[in-house]
Amino acid sequence: MHRILLIMNDDSSTVPMPVFPEVEMNLVTPKAPVTGTVVKSETCLRGGRKSASFVRHVEIDVSGTPLEGACRAGQSFGVIAPGVAENGKPHKVRLYSLASPTCGEDGEGKIIATTPKRVIDEFTPQKDEDDSDRHELFLGVCSNYVCDLQVGDKVQVTGPSGKRFLLPVDHNKHDYIFMATGTGIAPFRSMCKELFENPDGPTTSQVHVVMGTPYTTDLLYDDLFVKLAEEHDNFHYHTAVSREKQADGSRGLYVGQLVDLKFDDTFGPILTSDRGLMYMCGLVGMQWGIYQLFAEKGITEAYMTIKEDLKDVSHTDWDKEQMRRYIKPTHRLMVEVY
Ligand SMILES: Cc1cc2nc3c(=O)[nH]c(=O)nc-3n(C[C@H](O)[C@H](O)[C@H](O)COP(=O)(O)OP(=O)(O)OC[C@H]3O[C@@H](n4cnc5c(N)ncnc54)[C@H](O)[C@@H]3O)c2cc1C
Repeated sequence: MHRILLIMNDDSSTVPMPVFPEVEMNLVTPKAPVTGTVVKSETCLRGGRKSASFVRHVEIDVSGTPLEGACRAGQSFGVIAPGVAENGKPHKVRLYSLASPTCGEDGEGKIIATTPKRVIDEFTPQKDEDDSDRHELFLGVCSNYVCDLQVGDKVQVTGPSGKRFLLPVDHNKHDYIFMATGTGIAPFRSMCKELFENPDGPTTSQVHVVMGTPYTTDLLYDDLFVKLAEEHDNFHYHTAVSREKQADGSRGLYVGQLVDLKFDDTFGPILTSDRGLMYMCGLVGMQWGIYQLFAEKGITEAYMTIKEDLKDVSHTDWDKEQMRRYIKPTHRLMVEVY
């Protein structure tokens, strides 16, 4: 049973704010992780021509641990890779968004899922003291560990984490725009399953998923979203593929450009109504263009609290550092970037 948390409107906005549930957090801490068992691992790229990235859908059985039934759509959980880091200390916990709905993959909250992407690259200097000639293979510790796990393998997990990136209590009171880049789609798989595969019946709200990837082959959970769009008139799936030409020969699009392009007929009516909620998840930086777009469209009040320092600066002149410091999303704009 989840208690209800009433969110007070913390800015001068007169627009009604959604009510979010209160959720369990940090039931399992990195100091005392629990053991889960991998029950599924499969690629979740759209396939076809081989993509340059490697992303998997991994399911972990957490039954009998405090995580069972405690992970809510939109939250994350932690994974601790075995072994030690360069400093000789155990690896730090890494967070992974839940891709499973609150009832888990099994309907009983015993099996959670996530969407790890292998961090794989040539070494690039990160600090001033790093040798600029280094170029050996760089493999992220935890992402590759999770992607390598086989069915039956044990894994140390923690969580749940996050209390802000959640669906509101009354699903049908709001309409949703979910913007994702790459693995940022994970929480939206979770939320869309929650909204449309609910024992109480599918939501009556308008739900838009905007998925951004470099190439079509990088689309994640594409089958699920295509199917939802076929089955539900109120579910809409938009893809923004940045490095391929559009069907009409025009240039590739980023998620922000797609929202701008379809603003008047699709996204604007939702965002300007009292029902609109926007969620963004994925690459750090995806939020800056949206903040500027909101300012251009004159819809900042409901979604952003802009501090005095920025109020007299034209939105076209806002730089990233200013936006980071002086803009705070309201409870109608949920941002999770990493
Ligand atoms: C709330 C939240 C949810 C998340 N959800 C997901 C998810 O659903 N799926 C997912 O895949 N990830 C997710 N992440 C990211 C995840 O936590 C890890 O950061 C990611 O998997 C990389 O971890 P790693 O151990 O593989 O890489 P690390 O070993 O930690 O390496 C990454 C670090 O190495 C450095 N580095 C990166 N590239 C290079 C390079 N070429 N050369 C040298 N150094 C480099 C950078 O400092 C970088 O921070 C999420 C993060 C947060 C905060």
